[in-house]
Amino acid sequence: MTIDASTSIRSSHESVGLGTDQDNPLTNARSQLEAAARTLGFDHGMHQILANPRREMIVQIPLRLDNGGVEVFTGYRVQHNFSRGPAKGGLRYSPHVSLDEVRALAMWMTWKCTLLDVPYGGAKGGITIDPRQYSRGELERLTRRYTSEILPIIGPERDIPAPDIGTDEHTMAWMMDTFSVASGYTVPAVVTGKPVSVGGSLGRSSSTSKGVVHIALAALEHKGLNPARCTAAIQGFGKVGAGAAELLAKAGVRVVAVGDQYGAVYSSKGLNIRHLAEHAGRTGSVAGFAEAEPVPSEALLELNVDLLVPAAVEGVLNRMNARKVQAKVIVEGANGPTTADADAIFQEAGTLVVPDILANAGGVIVSYFEWVQGNQAYWWTEAEVDERLEHRMLAAWHNLLETQRKLGLTLRETATATAVDKVAKAHKIRGLYP
Ligand code: NAD
Repeated sequence: MTIDASTSIRSSHESVGLGTDQDNPLTNARSQLEAAARTLGFDHGMHQILANPRREMIVQIPLRLDNGGVEVFTGYRVQHNFSRGPAKGGLRYSPHVSLDEVRALAMWMTWKCTLLDVPYGGAKGGITIDPRQYSRGELERLTRRYTSEILPIIGPERDIPAPDIGTDEHTMAWMMDTFSVASGYTVPAVVTGKPVSVGGSLGRSSSTSKGVVHIALAALEHKGLNPARCTAAIQGFGKVGAGAAELLAKAGVRVVAVGDQYGAVYSSKGLNIRHLAEHAGRTGSVAGFAEAEPVPSEALLELNVDLLVPAAVEGVLNRMNARKVQAKVIVEGANGPTTADADAIFQEAGTLVVPDILANAGGVIVSYFEWVQGNQAYWWTEAEVDERLEHRMLAAWHNLLETQRKLGLTLRETATATAVDKVAKAHKIRGLYP
């Protein structure tokens, strides 16, 4: 990476609309960008281009309920940047979805794709809904209407959605089908994270967790810790957290605590992850698992463990609890789990924080593989997918450590500055139209 410091810093908070609310993920994302812009000596114009999304769409989604009534939801699709290729990012169904959250997640996607050398820009979508309150038929109708509303701005060369919180491979199959029916032919590469039977990639569903675990094991070793003698706590037992728990346990790490939005459980001897997954599959939560004791959800983040993997939502490590966190290594399975205040506290304490834009990039890497396979109609084996995933994750990890040594910044500052620099270079070389 080359740092071009020839331009002066003229950016201001006001001009890019920075807020002050530390609980707002967009404030967090923009403060990370601001630090990178300062490191890179950006001028005001470039900072503004990168601080604001390229395109945003807000849609109303009227849903016919099973009982015959109608409820109206708000959906978003934000495309932060596509200077390096089509936009890419997940679709979230959660009652907490807001425009600012989607904007932040879209910005992080831009940096993640760039850092991992995946030829995409960043995007994100969301609908403000609690999906657990609705039937499968209702969710299908919601997804199809949302897809038809955002149809003009998505497509294999425009913007390619994928699963995130509250969505899964079925959601992607409905999106793909809706887009394909409107196009008049089957377009598998419009989404990734689809079922394998309709063009999904082998190894995609476990890819984020596998990437998190490759990085977690490397980070523990980097800290001089033997993973086989380490303990871990994991927040979130969904697509990312459950897979990470299983793979960490398989690698010999003692996973002593796991939590979700309903509660958390602890066992000093280590949880039996297979039994825990069966319990959560049956009851919908890790809470009430008979082979462990309950712990308060907030306490999970503050346990005396070697490794902490936040794999749920944003902002959970913040100024209120960061000083109480005892883990030596934090590997961010979730997007944006650490606020800027907490980052500063962890730096002071010598806690190694592996940032989301590297740690959870396994999903977008295999999404990229899925898109490539779909475009070529040529399918790889799971072993090929896994090998390429591991290679890319570990190469990015080693590159990041090397750049960090040169720059003397934190891993997050280094990762963000590296990615932001590459995106800015793409803008400069393409020039400004007209
Ligand atoms: P998911 O819906 O499958 O699981 C989310 C889990 O988090 C659930 O166990 C839920 O109960 C728990 N949770 C939600 N709110 C919580 C809270 N306030 N406290 C504790 N637990 C809570 O979602 P997922 O796909 O596993 O995504 C988790 C995180 O990983 C998100 O930040 C997402 O953006 C990120 N991520 C996901 C992928 C992917 O491929 N799915 C890729 C990269 C990053």
